[in-house]
Amino acid sequence: MVFYTNMTRKVGAHIGGVENFAAAVEKAVKMGCNAMQIFSGSPRIWQRRTLELIVTPEFLQTRDRLGVNPVVTHALYLVNLASDKAENVEKSFKSLKYELEFDAAIGGGGVVVHVGSHQGRGWENARDQVIQVIADLLKATPANSCFLIENAAGQNGKVGDDLKEVAEILERVEQIGKYVSNGRIGWCFDTCHAHAAGYYLGEVAPDLTFTGKSEKDMKNAHRRGALSARAMITELGLWDALKCIHVNDSKDPFGSGRDRHQNLGDGMIPQADMKVFLNLPQLRETVPLILEVPGLDEEGPDAENVQRLKGLIAL
Ligand SMILES: [Zn+2]
Ligand SMILES: [Zn+2]
Repeated sequence: MVFYTNMTRKVGAHIGGVENFAAAVEKAVKMGCNAMQIFSGSPRIWQRRTLELIVTPEFLQTRDRLGVNPVVTHALYLVNLASDKAENVEKSFKSLKYELEFDAAIGGGGVVVHVGSHQGRGWENARDQVIQVIADLLKATPANSCFLIENAAGQNGKVGDDLKEVAEILERVEQIGKYVSNGRIGWCFDTCHAHAAGYYLGEVAPDLTFTGKSEKDMKNAHRRGALSARAMITELGLWDALKCIHVNDSKDPFGSGRDRHQNLGDGMIPQADMKVFLNLPQLRETVPLILEVPGLDEEGPDAENVQRLKGLIAL
């Protein structure tokens, strides 16, 4: 196995299947990571343990000793800030408040959030609520916590498949409380979701006629055409607020709107395009590159995918 020594970049993976966070740090380091992402508890249940029980000195010391930084948190899958049911929004608020407190307690790299789905109501009818809830949340949480909006793949009215929605949230939340400029909110770019939503990562647009999909599948790609991720992020002024990259290949063709991650190089994102994107000069070296791939053994990110990622950024 080749070991790359150029570790100025932050290479990480989502780490699960371990007893505690200290073990997660050790697992990440064994895989070759110097950054990682975790859930603060199960992503499928609302319940959480008190912070004192999970943010242990053993975890923080292991992290510092082994140099894993940043540790990014991923919020629950149940969260929906765009729901039209007040009870769901309330539960989501409480849950995210906990996640942000967790992020502050560990001095982490932010909480990645799937904002949710407007369930067909349309972004125009959900955006005021989403923006207000996020602003309230930032007001109610520690100053050293950070909320990261993740771009979506384009399924079921999910907010943020269109990067303009991400830009709009950031702009309006900034107006309310300077939350972008004071580092309280930013966004996370998932390469699989971008590919699904019709943003290509390389320099040349994919030929939409050769993706061989049903009309329904092509909805996203055709709605906007194929857009350059780099050009769009630049046009929307989103480079500075970009705080995390989820590096995932995709099992589905460009513009499919489907969210099925694949191991790097084994999916439908051209690796040359992935390489171009990950090495863009606009992308800061400090932005962590986090794998959320299925792994060769279907047990989550592994050393092989970490090596493949390092190969993509080894210039
Ligand atoms: Zn992701
Ligand atoms: Zn995904």
